[in-house]
Amino acid sequence: MDYNKLANMLFPNINKTISYYENEVFPKRNLKEGAKVTRLAPSPTGFIHLGNLYGAFVDERLAHQSDGVFMLRIEDTDEKRKVEGAVETIITSLKFFDLNFDEGALIDGENGDYGPYYQSNRAEIYQCVAKYLIEQGRAYPCFCTEEELEDIRREQEAEGVNTGYYGKWAKYRNATIEEIQEHLDNGESFVVRFKSNGTEEGKFEIDDAIRGRLEIHENYQDVVILKTNGIPTYHFAHVVDDHLMRVTHVVRGEEWLSTLPIHYELFKTIGWDTPIYCHTAHLMKMDNGSKRKLSKRKDPELGLGYYMELGYHPAAVREYLMTILNSDFEEWRIANPEGNIEEFEFTLNKMSNSGALFDLDKLNNISKDVLLKIPVEEIYVFLLNWSKEHKPEIVNILENNRESVIKLLSIGRNDNKPRKDLMYCEQIFEFISYFFDEYFSIVDNYPENIDGAEAKKLLQKYLNTYNHSDDQSQWFDKIRTISSENGYAAKPKDYKKNPDMYKGHVGDVSTVIRIALVGRSVSPDVWEIQQIMGKEKVLERLKKVIN
Ligand code: GLU
Repeated sequence: MDYNKLANMLFPNINKTISYYENEVFPKRNLKEGAKVTRLAPSPTGFIHLGNLYGAFVDERLAHQSDGVFMLRIEDTDEKRKVEGAVETIITSLKFFDLNFDEGALIDGENGDYGPYYQSNRAEIYQCVAKYLIEQGRAYPCFCTEEELEDIRREQEAEGVNTGYYGKWAKYRNATIEEIQEHLDNGESFVVRFKSNGTEEGKFEIDDAIRGRLEIHENYQDVVILKTNGIPTYHFAHVVDDHLMRVTHVVRGEEWLSTLPIHYELFKTIGWDTPIYCHTAHLMKMDNGSKRKLSKRKDPELGLGYYMELGYHPAAVREYLMTILNSDFEEWRIANPEGNIEEFEFTLNKMSNSGALFDLDKLNNISKDVLLKIPVEEIYVFLLNWSKEHKPEIVNILENNRESVIKLLSIGRNDNKPRKDLMYCEQIFEFISYFFDEYFSIVDNYPENIDGAEAKKLLQKYLNTYNHSDDQSQWFDKIRTISSENGYAAKPKDYKKNPDMYKGHVGDVSTVIRIALVGRSVSPDVWEIQQIMGKEKVLERLKKVIN
């Protein structure tokens, strides 16, 4: 068989060579020794998820810790899965989480010397490499229709052998040039298949930077590398792009492990070095006591939109993801409470290979710690910007009450044991919403031992003695006095000693006041809240309950 002739029959217009691309277009990068080149390679399906972000952080850290390059490549070879606006979603979401690419796709266009970064614009490059494989006798056209492939599969099932396109089942593997010519003359469309030399029994070893040395089965299938429209499959595009873009580390989900043998054989056949593979573990969650994969259908928290809509601070999400990315991060954080997260040395061998457990409660806890370190003025701006996008009805309120909001968010933050109340914007607004009359309502009940009439009576006493200029201790002394004058212990411990002597204690009386003023039984310091509210609002709220 004259393979050169076949190659020219199939790709008459492809006249560049691999070495042209390797030497002239995409030469070795001029980076310092050890610099890592990584890429995030999402498909523009419109859904960007935590797994993407998890992988992106790995890519970003590897590249930027080593003065390397972190790029964005859009894997848009699957027409059916493409969604309008998806690239914009990817870029803006990642930017929100503070992930910035050094090169790659932009919302409109691209930036960098190793493009195009949209795979759909790289057809000629893939076809050049496919043509080379045909010339080497390691790829060939296949004219099988869907029905023919289905027939082959049925026969294989009947015989009880592995299904697929390989060995004697590979109908066009040994087609003659004349047969191929005939199909082409008939105007039949074809895919290009890789001619595998692997066997069903064969095995090989490869090092994965997260999983260590792997022994896996060879590929033996003649997989499709170019589809009928000349656009590559994932397998082929991955090999060609990661080589020519000079990617050193391929970070991708463990779902790609099963097809790694294909990629390995392609790299070896073309004569290229494999990149260092880093197969990350699936994100898991606990569900009814057992671990399972996060699912798009069942778990809204898988999508990145979830965090943006609720208004999680990117620094909190990043801090949390780092705890599941590297097992020694939390230890580092305890030793470096004020350290910038970028000072932590991220390493691949500290990554889990058995499923990373994602836990929203833990994210919320970490978020509280992270927000405590962010100046309140910045949190205010973050909240305001979030509201513009996700809760426009509160923009005015926030803008008109800037000082009060900042003060409300500040209560108890500078104490020895600072309050940790804030988690994400939706919750932060909910947390201070009592302050605004339009959002204020009484949500909690009075303590069990106090009924409505009794509460009114206590609040009337409170109102009678209320002096807005009392300092905190004068204010609390008055509450103690009201308590003891009305049958409540002025100190909880007195009540504990002799519960029969009292209706309750000063804590119950304070709770009644708290509920009247903020609507809830738990809140930051009431005296401070009153000072922020101002005398008029305090009196108004008290009177509203009394009357
Ligand atoms: N486009 C693939 C995906 O979205 C990328 C896998 C890879 O990073 O190689 O899953």
